[in-house]
Amino acid sequence: MTTNALSFLAVAPAQVIRGWGVITKAGDAIARLGTHPVIVSGKHTGAIVETVIRPMLAAQACQVAPVSYSPDCSEASLAKMRQAVAQHQADVIIGVGGGKALDAAKLLAHQTQLPVVTVPTSGATCAAWTALSNVYSQRGAFLYDVPLAHCPELLVLDYELVRSAPQRTLVAGIGDAIAKWYEASVSSGHSQQTLIIGAVQQARILRDILLQKSVEALQEPGGAAWQEVVDATVLMAGVIGGLGGAQCRTVAAHAIHNGLTHIPACHGTLHGEKVAYGILVQLRLEEMLQGSQLAATARHQLLQFYDAIGLPKDLASLGLANVTLAELQHAAEVACNPRSDIHHLPFRVEPTHVLAAMVSTTAPVWSDDKKLDSGDANRLSVATQSTNLTINDEV
Ligand SMILES: [Zn+2]
Repeated sequence: MTTNALSFLAVAPAQVIRGWGVITKAGDAIARLGTHPVIVSGKHTGAIVETVIRPMLAAQACQVAPVSYSPDCSEASLAKMRQAVAQHQADVIIGVGGGKALDAAKLLAHQTQLPVVTVPTSGATCAAWTALSNVYSQRGAFLYDVPLAHCPELLVLDYELVRSAPQRTLVAGIGDAIAKWYEASVSSGHSQQTLIIGAVQQARILRDILLQKSVEALQEPGGAAWQEVVDATVLMAGVIGGLGGAQCRTVAAHAIHNGLTHIPACHGTLHGEKVAYGILVQLRLEEMLQGSQLAATARHQLLQFYDAIGLPKDLASLGLANVTLAELQHAAEVACNPRSDIHHLPFRVEPTHVLAAMVSTTAPVWSDDKKLDSGDANRLSVATQSTNLTINDEV
């Protein structure tokens, strides 16, 4: 497609500082952007702001105003934070925390036309990198996303901070990052555009890195494999979003996530956990509606991977063992709304299909009228770890 419309690229932050304990040395770089920061954080990261960020900024003679995005990255919270920015006459925004704190900080900076610094405190998402913010209701239901003009001015990735987060956050980040391949290959796998081809291929490499290194990473937090996996979830997943742009971002896995956020019982699970489950639902849809054998084998491989690292495979492991049919139906309808990315699938999807896929994510995988035994499964798993998805040849 050629177009004369203005086209913006938002590939990467202007500057990335990374290393162990680097937050204590980031004062200079932050003070160059502004000396009256508003710091956006949430319930769990307020302590990091007080004990780590404030002293570091005090040493730069910065005047700091902390604000909370609680209860969510919502329109009401953003309005409250814009007031804080005006009152403080802020000249830079600093986001400290997980995906929602960083999304709130980026969107606040976008709305007030100020530079933004992101300090991720977990490996749970690539929100520290991307030029995109999700907006939720006050009660945590996904409403819409906002493309931003550019990536953050500065990203400070301090492995020390990330290591102090619960292990579950990095597991969720692995789920969110591995989704890039399953979504980008569907939405953009046939693209002729150079940057999108690059993004899709990087998504495949990212998947392989995660399949190979995640188990070792989680066994030894802070070790070499762990650091590579954090780079994969926080940085490389962001590169793919940046290179691929909106066309390369999400398909059904994130649409399922968005639907699930409308079920209150699901609010205890993390973004990447819902997305990981959403990948299985997407593959189920490809199996059921397209007869895709490739999707079936990919799902089988992911089920083993999820078992090994602790990602949810079904409704029960998402905390939805007692979900009602009405709730599931509502989630399926949200996932299928006319503007949903689920319609990037190359076939028509109705809420009844989504419902059927949601309850059958662990269904047995059949191949050539023969159920895969564990030997087959192991072969598949080895065969796909370092190659493209040419796994049909192996079955
Ligand atoms: Zn995501």
